[in-house]
Amino acid sequence: SYYYKDPQKVLDDIDYQLTLDPKTLVELVKAFLDEFRTGLSSYNHPMAMIPTFVTGVPDGTETGTFLALDLGGTNLRVCEVVLKGDKTFSLRQQKYKVSDALKTGEAVALFDYLADSVDAFLTSHRPPEPTEPDTVNHQQMDDVPDFVPLGLTFSFPVEQTALNSGKILTWTKGFSARNAIGNDVVKLLQDAFDRKHMHVRCVALVNDTVGALLSRAYTGGGCILGSIFGTGTNGAYVEQVANITKLGNSPAVAQGGTMVVNTEWGAFNNSRSHLPTTPYDNSLDRTSINPRFQAFEKMISGMYLGEITRLVLLSLIDAAPKSMLFAGKVTKVVNEQWGLDTSVMSDVEQAWESGDGKDGDVIPQFEELGKGEEGVKPEFRKKLERVRKIVVEKMQYEDGEVSLRDAAIVRWVCHLVARRAALLSGVAVAAVLLQQGRATLPDTEGKFDKRNGKVGEGERILIGVDGSLIQFYPNFERTMRESIRALVGGDVEGRVEIGLAKDGSGVGAALCALQAMKQY
Ligand code: ADP
Repeated sequence: SYYYKDPQKVLDDIDYQLTLDPKTLVELVKAFLDEFRTGLSSYNHPMAMIPTFVTGVPDGTETGTFLALDLGGTNLRVCEVVLKGDKTFSLRQQKYKVSDALKTGEAVALFDYLADSVDAFLTSHRPPEPTEPDTVNHQQMDDVPDFVPLGLTFSFPVEQTALNSGKILTWTKGFSARNAIGNDVVKLLQDAFDRKHMHVRCVALVNDTVGALLSRAYTGGGCILGSIFGTGTNGAYVEQVANITKLGNSPAVAQGGTMVVNTEWGAFNNSRSHLPTTPYDNSLDRTSINPRFQAFEKMISGMYLGEITRLVLLSLIDAAPKSMLFAGKVTKVVNEQWGLDTSVMSDVEQAWESGDGKDGDVIPQFEELGKGEEGVKPEFRKKLERVRKIVVEKMQYEDGEVSLRDAAIVRWVCHLVARRAALLSGVAVAAVLLQQGRATLPDTEGKFDKRNGKVGEGERILIGVDGSLIQFYPNFERTMRESIRALVGGDVEGRVEIGLAKDGSGVGAALCALQAMKQY
């Protein structure tokens, strides 16, 4: 056929499009730093660089009991957090589902649901004692009403004006509730509590990234960056107030010191001038509910990786004149938008990685893999058998419909898409290290000069992370580190301690509520 394309060339093209070389990573991190600077000096920039009014990080000695409400991901979470003051805490929690109808309906209905969930939690658990942090003067506490203080973790872009108020700027991650944007999220929630005559007061508003930062600081004794790699991606880091020039002459500036900044880095590249975007990314973006927004997030996070992978697989299924995958057969999973969950990619890679068989990557050589089974290299056979099992199970194919070559191609696509995501995640982390002056960039040859790693030499660099992707996706952190090393050098990368911010949103909200109570 005159339009026949060598199948190997088709695979090579995909490989080329989804691969990032170190030079590109350097260009990206430079662009990231530019966007940081623009966001720090102006409002209404996609990389919002939101001042959080959190001016200190905990050291683990904080105490008190607080309610925390967490909205921003797959689940809504209500919890009661007890900070014990010795870097430890206890936590009781309940998760509630947020239906698509609530996510995309009227904001009032969504916030009523939040209040109902807190009410249900309080009814099913003994209500916590009103908090009396040991540092609060009891005389001043006389008129403190018998309300339960609550910290709200709200993981959407908010323009914060104080610890307990902030305007919703935009929805992300599949939310689009009407009549919310432009309103104060704390007031929306407090009004819902008041409508139900509940004795709960929302005293602090915190982003999940800030929560991750604070909770890792509480349990680890310090932290410079909190970041999320879950449904979405974002990061918050400790910045010099003097660098947040858009604060103008706000009182915070006179106080000086440091303030946590919520970067909203998921919006990097909304201008579409930096990232090597593929047709698959464009297709995903066009059919998403927020075209042209959250461009970086759409290449990185759990909500989207499965969909990118699905689109690549579909292009191979649909390859003409001859299908290159599953003999052209589709299932609901591969044929429907959002049909393929990122956790399936995780399972596929796990199947490849685990157990016996040769480790390492395999880029399928189309001819070498043979028409069916016979061309498969023996050292990969066991791995591919395991992958095939997952594909059959999770992508809803029949046993005989998936060849080992199909399995190899699926695992390879998953790997390419996830590797790109992890490398890009490393760019964001490295950008923060560079912004804080902890490292310098390499030269064009990828070499670092003598100054690199000299700032804070020997110091531990604690980073708090949260999210299913970084927790569960095989080798995500390793690949992310590969990218960080290329950008800030092995010296600095070696001192980075990436640790799970356990229950970050709950503990972070509690720590923020504590800070707010002290200001009452
Ligand atoms: P959230 O960010 O909403 O608080 P998670 O951190 O659990 O919650 O992230 C949920 C996202 O992670 C979903 O998009 C889901 O597809 C993806 N996910 C769930 N399990 C895994 C897994 N084992 N490996 C990779 N991604 C996963």
